[in-house]
Amino acid sequence: MATIYLGQKKYSYSIIRKPISSLRLRLKTPRSFIVSCPRLTPEFVINRFIKKNQNWIVIHSQKVPAKKIYKNLKNLVILGEEYQLQFVKTQRDSVIVSVLDKKIYVNISKDSNKHIKLVLEKKLRPLALKIIKQELELFAKKYGFSYGNVVVRNQSSRFGSCSSRGNLNFNWQIIFFPLDKFRHILLHELNHLKIKNHSSVFWNQLVIYDPNCKPNNLWLKKEGTKYFLF
Ligand SMILES: [Zn+2]
Repeated sequence: MATIYLGQKKYSYSIIRKPISSLRLRLKTPRSFIVSCPRLTPEFVINRFIKKNQNWIVIHSQKVPAKKIYKNLKNLVILGEEYQLQFVKTQRDSVIVSVLDKKIYVNISKDSNKHIKLVLEKKLRPLALKIIKQELELFAKKYGFSYGNVVVRNQSSRFGSCSSRGNLNFNWQIIFFPLDKFRHILLHELNHLKIKNHSSVFWNQLVIYDPNCKPNNLWLKKEGTKYFLF
């Protein structure tokens, strides 16, 4: 890994030599990038290439999300409730969510970021499904819905969907949204059980279930994916 100053900011970069015919640039984090180049490219050509693209690097690197270091996470906000995270190095992996004292104990056998992510996700995903099912049950009783299977997925672009058979899918990470936004997503999909399209009939019905339907929907479009942690 080499370093270079571009626009008064220090960047680190790595060079990957491979059988390609031209130089390529890929941003990795807000302060690092990768240069891929043909195997025999001289150093000065690479440097010239970086300098030539420095404006592009400086501007676009600001938009690259920083890599999440899960061990540095201090807390997790689940449906607006803040849980403190406590990491402990142990023999066996486990995650204990204590609702009473609002703490999540994360016991990990390996320190790597990838491993911590895996352990956390393995526990939080079923928890999300449980929370979603509980909430759906309440709405079903209140408004008279009946649905099929409920599953959680990790679709990055969608929050939920409703199949023609009445099965409901949700992105498990919607539990990191504020409660009213979370509920809005569930009500949206429940509403699809009766109205398949997004016609005015659909929205007029949804606003009965969620009076803040419009601002909630807007918020989800603008902010939603920022809340995804995995
Ligand atoms: Zn929809």
